[in-house]
Amino acid sequence: MRIWAVANQKGGVGKTTTTLALGRGLAALGHRVLLIDLDPHASLSRAFGVPVDPPPAGVLELFGAPPADLSSLCHASSIHGLDYVCAQSALATLERRSANQPGLGLALQNALARHQGQHDYILLDCAPTLGLLMINALAAADRLIIPTQAEPLALHGLDGMVRTGEMVERSRRRPLPISILPTLFDRRTRAGNESLRTMQDRHGSRVWEDAIPIDTRISNAAGLTLPSVGEDYPGRGLAAYRRALNWILGEDAPGRMNSTGVLDDY
Ligand code: ADP
Ligand code: MG
Repeated sequence: MRIWAVANQKGGVGKTTTTLALGRGLAALGHRVLLIDLDPHASLSRAFGVPVDPPPAGVLELFGAPPADLSSLCHASSIHGLDYVCAQSALATLERRSANQPGLGLALQNALARHQGQHDYILLDCAPTLGLLMINALAAADRLIIPTQAEPLALHGLDGMVRTGEMVERSRRRPLPISILPTLFDRRTRAGNESLRTMQDRHGSRVWEDAIPIDTRISNAAGLTLPSVGEDYPGRGLAAYRRALNWILGEDAPGRMNSTGVLDDY
């Protein structure tokens, strides 16, 4: 079981879109995938058509005493192999309400440890807040994926997120490799191209050498339409996500790439 946290301390950079696109790509490759919505705004849950009111059982229950079993919170989506766990708006006050409950930073990691063998990939869609939920995600993750808008103002946020990932890695004494995905890229603008170069200069091989382009088919869909499995990804945005997935899978298992750069197993 591999756990990927999709995080950035900045909002609107494509975290939820990335979680959905990578999750869908992994499911299309035949993996059993679980997407966990860790954002109180619950955009990911909304993309699966979950109603806001009444709030469904979900991530909040993992922080209860006793915590719920993760498998009891999983819903199957209309896409074969793609399951999800909902977020609730009450997650926003979790930190305040649980101030004197020790050990909550590892609640998600513990829940996932008990979930071994039920999914192949777990993707964690984080909120843009450096708080208890993000700490839970980073503590549990095998890889940190940072979607970053390729524009000058987003570069500070990227540096901050990389520092946070490195700090968690030091404190837990287990590697937390980082994959940076430039998103919402407009190759016609100088600012976009310069930001991409700056990103690559500062963060080297952690940055994907390609970028996810702005694609109106993604913004129009707002994550709501999830084309069926087997169907080729429509549009350049989703095609780019498929290449990004292949890069991340290669980073995860460098020994298994064949000479064409495609993972042997698929
Ligand atoms: P975050 O989760 O980081 O807040 P989202 O994934 O919700 O970001 O994306 C923010 C907005 O940008 C959404 O409306 C989404 O549909 C849109 N969006 C994301 N990626 C793209 C893209 N490649 N092209 C066009 N619109 C995009
Ligand atoms: Mg989001």
